[in-house]
Amino acid sequence: MPPSTQPALSWIESELGELARQGLRRSRVVRDGGQLPIVTLDGRELVSFGSNDYLGLAADPRLAAAASEASAREGWGSGASPLICGYSRAHQALERRLAEFEGTEAALLFSSGFAANVGAISALAGPGDLVLADRKNHASLLDGCRLSRADVRVFPHGDCRELRRLLDRPARHRRRLIATDGLFSMDGDLAPLAELADLAARYGAMLLVDEAHATGVFGPGGRGVAEHLGLEGRVDVRVGTLSKALGSVGGFVAGSRSLIEWLVNRARPYVFSTAPPPAVAAAARAAIDIVEREPERRAGLIARAAALRDALAARGLVVGPSQSQIIPIVVGQPEAALEIAARLRERGCFVPAIRPPTVPEGESCLRISLTAAHTPEMIEGLLAALEGA
Ligand code: PMP
Repeated sequence: MPPSTQPALSWIESELGELARQGLRRSRVVRDGGQLPIVTLDGRELVSFGSNDYLGLAADPRLAAAASEASAREGWGSGASPLICGYSRAHQALERRLAEFEGTEAALLFSSGFAANVGAISALAGPGDLVLADRKNHASLLDGCRLSRADVRVFPHGDCRELRRLLDRPARHRRRLIATDGLFSMDGDLAPLAELADLAARYGAMLLVDEAHATGVFGPGGRGVAEHLGLEGRVDVRVGTLSKALGSVGGFVAGSRSLIEWLVNRARPYVFSTAPPPAVAAAARAAIDIVEREPERRAGLIARAAALRDALAARGLVVGPSQSQIIPIVVGQPEAALEIAARLRERGCFVPAIRPPTVPEGESCLRISLTAAHTPEMIEGLLAALEGA
């Protein structure tokens, strides 16, 4: 074969060009300085409706103070994976605090929510097992399914009849796992957890709920959708992230002692990756204290999100099935979402355009993340900016 005249990576430029033609190419915007609610993006000050920092804790000085004390005491890096020698006092203290907060026997810290989902699913299911996953689950749940090498069946969003049909098929699987987001990250709606828990119990399946967007926001204690619906005892595997309402970074699994012990032994992103800095654990612990002591943050947020959904719907905007602080305005095509996002930026508001593959084809949207840091004036400003956008 004659030597190729094309550089080996030349295909990338044409693929990127194709993404751009379809309105699907992504690029990053540099954020300068501070966090919510006013951000400076590419040099312009905007009111941000794009952050998952739902309680406004990412820039809270109490988190920064906890992190700097811990790094002064324990150093910045953690040096190794937790099973070698990277597991510090700060990590242990956070895991105990997480278990106490969640009311579970134990909890395990991962370096991200993504790693927690991938690690948990691939440790709980393997070849010969069956994982049943909602079509709108987060990518990390999906990737966990893929990595597990279990049989995976995806059921239509929230469709418990179809899930039941799949569970009714003659069982030739060793174990079964139902995996769902608690609060769906793009539509902002809640999973039908009572029905899912009933089906899991009836068919002897494990139930995993990813509470990434609900931790700190939903439930009287801020523990998520399962708490909100009074179903905590019926969820076998609770996944959460520290990166959204807890204003930090990292993910966790909470559950029984044996579940956590199994994950310590078998969750590959846990076993084979360096532990997060101890300071990260200390900051997250400070955030949990705030979630417990300042319930008014989440109560106010939920109330204002309901009012905003109503106000948007009253203006004829399609807000989809949202029941939460995540409020998508569905526009359909990616180009349309980009154009509206650009117009909103000109009017001083940052609302990200969400396009495939994050959402299915035809469901491109502007995703409003409302947070406790937004003032009534800022919300009014967004409504005004949306007029005719
Ligand atoms: N689960 C869901 C539902 C998410 O939306 C995300 C992040 N967007 C994750 C997990 C991953 O969490 P992290 O950002 O902490 O990796």
